[in-house]
Amino acid sequence: MNIDKFTDVIKACRFCFMCRHLSPVGNVSFRESDTPRGRALICGKLKENTQIQPDFADVFYRSELSAANRFHCVSHYDEAGLIMAARRDIVEAGAAPENVKKLVEELKKVSFKVSGTGDVLYYIDEYTEAQSSISSALAKIYGKKFKTISGGDIGKALKVLGFEKDAEVVFKKFVKAVKDSGCKTIVTSCPASYDAMKNDFKLEGVKVLHSSEFIAGLKLKGTKAVNAYYLDSDYLKNYNENFAVPRELLGKLSYKLKMFGTNVEESYSCGEGAVVFDKLNPELAARLAAHVLEFADNPGKDIVITSSPYTRFVLNKYAPSLKVISIEEAVLKAMEK
Ligand code: SF4
Repeated sequence: MNIDKFTDVIKACRFCFMCRHLSPVGNVSFRESDTPRGRALICGKLKENTQIQPDFADVFYRSELSAANRFHCVSHYDEAGLIMAARRDIVEAGAAPENVKKLVEELKKVSFKVSGTGDVLYYIDEYTEAQSSISSALAKIYGKKFKTISGGDIGKALKVLGFEKDAEVVFKKFVKAVKDSGCKTIVTSCPASYDAMKNDFKLEGVKVLHSSEFIAGLKLKGTKAVNAYYLDSDYLKNYNENFAVPRELLGKLSYKLKMFGTNVEESYSCGEGAVVFDKLNPELAARLAAHVLEFADNPGKDIVITSSPYTRFVLNKYAPSLKVISIEEAVLKAMEK
C-alpha cells in the first residue's frame, strides 16, 4: 500500500493532538476524523487489512490538503503526504467515491490552446478564467503582449485526487502545447499549477514563474501607504517553503500588511490545497469561507489580497461581503494611485 511509506507519520500523528487547531475542515466540522490524528488512526486500521469502507474514503476526500499541519509540525511529519498516499490506495482499490470519479472524467477532457503573440506564455487555469479581472490586471501591469494557454487543469487536480497516471497523461499534453508555443518563460497566477510545474512534473527548458515573481521582476513602485491583509496561499507557503515574493512585492508597492485572523499558522485559503475542493465539497467550502469571514475586522472596507485565484473565487462566492482581490489587482491598484 502507498500508506506503508508513511508508517512514521501514522505512528506519530495517531497519538498527537498538537496541530488539531490547524485543520481547516476540522475547525468547521468539529469531527476528529478531519484532523491528522483521526486520519492517522484510520490509516493504522487500513494497514491491518481493514477493507476501505465508503466512510473511510470520504474522510480522505474531505481533506482540504492545506499542509499547514505539516509545515508547522515541530518534526514536519508529512501528514499531507499520508492523505495523498491514502487517496492513491483508495483509487487503486477501486473505492473512489462516485462524485470523485465523475469529476475525474471531467478533468481528463482537456484541450490546450495557445493564443496571442509574445515571448511570455501565461497559463490561465479555470479559476483565473472565471475571474477575468485577474488576467486583465496582469496585462495592464506588463504593458506588453503575451501569449496565453488555457483549456483545462494541467494534471494537478487529478494528481491530488489520487489519479496519478491520468495526471501524467494530461500533463504530457500540456507540455506539448507549451513546447509548440516556442516560449521559454511560463507565468501562472495559480499557485497549484505553479507547484505542479515546479515540483510534481517535469517542464524542462522552460522558466516557471508565479505571477507575483513575474511582476516583481518588473521593478514597479507604489506611492501611498495603504493598510491591507494578505491571505497566504497554501501552495506558495506550505508547499514551497514560505515563498516570500508576494509579501515582499506588496511591501515594495507601499502596502502595509496586517495579520489576518488570530495567528500566522492557520490556512485561510478555503481548500486551495485540494485544488478542486469547491467542486467536490461545496458545503464545506462555504463553511470554510464563513469561518474566514468571522475573522475579518471590517468586511467590505478592508483590502484583503490573495495570490490564489481559487481562494479569491471561493471567498467572493460564499463570503461576498469580504471583497477579496488578487495580487495582480492589488498591484494595479497601487500603480494607478
Ligand atoms: S503533524 Fe505533527 S503536530 Fe500534527 S498530529 Fe502529526 S505529529 Fe502531531
